[in-house]
Amino acid sequence: MMSLEAQLSSKGPAIVDASNPPICSSCGKLVAPLEKGVKFPCPNCGSVTLWRCKDCRSLGVRYVCPKCGFEGP
Ligand SMILES: [Zn+2]
Ligand SMILES: [Zn+2]
Repeated sequence: MMSLEAQLSSKGPAIVDASNPPICSSCGKLVAPLEKGVKFPCPNCGSVTLWRCKDCRSLGVRYVCPKCGFEGP
């Protein structure tokens, strides 16, 4: 059985911390400032800022919102 609730990451309100380094939501790597990464709010819940690195963007790797579980290209 697969459980979507395997990731228990519900701790407090979703605050975008400026000190958090941008992490690619697809591959989990740091998005370098000089790299053409993109950031956007989750299209579903809008309360999480998702990052994608240049590679995942061009490859169309899926990302998953850590808050609502939305998957998108
Ligand atoms: Zn990536
Ligand atoms: Zn979301």
